Amino acid sequence: SITSNIQDAKMSAQAAVRKTGEEFSEMFALMDDAYMKERAADIKDISERLIRKLCYGRNQSCETAMTEPYVAAAEDLTPSQTVSLNKSLIQAIVTGKGSQFSHSAILARIMGIPAVADVGEGLRDVAEGQTIIVDGKEGIVIVDPDAETLEQYRQKREAFCQYRAELAAYASKAAETKDGRRVEICANAADVSDAEAAKANGAEGIGLFRSEFLYMDRTELPSEEEQFLAYKQIVEAMNPGRVIIRTLDIGADKHTDCLNLPKEENPALGYRAIRICLDQKDMFRTQLRALLRASAYGRLAVMLPMIVSEEEVRQARAMTEEIRAELIAQGIPVAEKIEWGVMIETPASVIMSDRLAELVDFFSIGTNDLIQYTMACDRMNAHIGHLYDAMNPAVLRMIQQTIHNAHKAGIWVGMCGEAAADIRLTPILLKLGLDEFSAAPGSLLKLKKQIMETDISQVILPKELTR
Ligand code: PEP
Ligand code: MG
Repeated sequence: SITSNIQDAKMSAQAAVRKTGEEFSEMFALMDDAYMKERAADIKDISERLIRKLCYGRNQSCETAMTEPYVAAAEDLTPSQTVSLNKSLIQAIVTGKGSQFSHSAILARIMGIPAVADVGEGLRDVAEGQTIIVDGKEGIVIVDPDAETLEQYRQKREAFCQYRAELAAYASKAAETKDGRRVEICANAADVSDAEAAKANGAEGIGLFRSEFLYMDRTELPSEEEQFLAYKQIVEAMNPGRVIIRTLDIGADKHTDCLNLPKEENPALGYRAIRICLDQKDMFRTQLRALLRASAYGRLAVMLPMIVSEEEVRQARAMTEEIRAELIAQGIPVAEKIEWGVMIETPASVIMSDRLAELVDFFSIGTNDLIQYTMACDRMNAHIGHLYDAMNPAVLRMIQQTIHNAHKAGIWVGMCGEAAADIRLTPILLKLGLDEFSAAPGSLLKLKKQIMETDISQVILPKELTR
């Protein structure tokens, strides 16, 4: 119980509530009765509220308690906690755990906030009110800097702001290489409001809208109407640009209390994304209906995550066709043509890419997962970060094979993993024929500059790609 965890196990009150809450919610989740099963989410919700109350004295999150600009320092932040941070106050994020490829770090990048992960235990000694420098570029955190260091970093920040201002000139330019190859530049988004930053940074469309964030930080699934309004809003905001909405990619580190997802030994290899959608069809139908309805308001494309077989794509498309017929019969407008895409983020999808290309209009390479599955290297584990490398020849060969098979079948290929913004890789990706780059809005101008400074005819591919 909570009391014995505090008295006997000497846990903090918050840790005791969390542990007991988890035990009880697991107990409910294992019950046969569907009604009782659903109560697991209630227990979790109550535990979270209790923990917040213990931390902040009121029934509110740390976020809403803040009234001035601040740096969030935490042992770890879940993706849903990160996305709920107030963009107008938060200045930077520092976490003891995590890695630069965890979803919390990716979200921070989309929000344009400096973030440093995996700083270890040191954070425990940081108290509220201390001055802290967060250098997201170098991955450095300095607590209580002396006057000289503070001044150095003020100058660094100024130089950085000036560099960004110079890059602004690229926003309105077309992304074309020195030797005349035009590619598409798009933004990744996690929220409807990200369309603003996308457009300000010259994005031609949204290359990845992570729809799962509509399902997080809540205990009830989002309704068809709520989803429809969100998709419609972003599609209208980017019109006539294309908005690629990825169907629910929940699971692994992206947790939701709306679904009673089982605790798994290897969640990254488990019940997630398309596997859940094709299993819980009613929920998937709701999302597909909302997507089809929103397609009437602009250029909406649908993309499927974590695909490992042709069958998964066939099933999703067959469900969509049924729903389309249903909507038309109800007199609800639907776009005549919706582009379909598959995320290439598993080795199986690369190996099957010649076949998958026959089923869709485009591919988008999700390097965040593709690297972890190719290299057998957890993207959240900074301690094996040396293996998590987009420049590894095995990863580059995966990318090469994907682009080759897509082009052979006459479809275009984009990249929406973080590697799309890695300018070390840009010349190689251009040489391999990548058609579209999608990255955090704040990375787009630098990326466009790199593309415009590349002469593809001068790029020499690594030897592993030419043999
Ligand atoms: C990816 O895996 O590269 C990707 C873009 O999806 P996510 O980071 O959300 O898993
Ligand atoms: Mg992924």
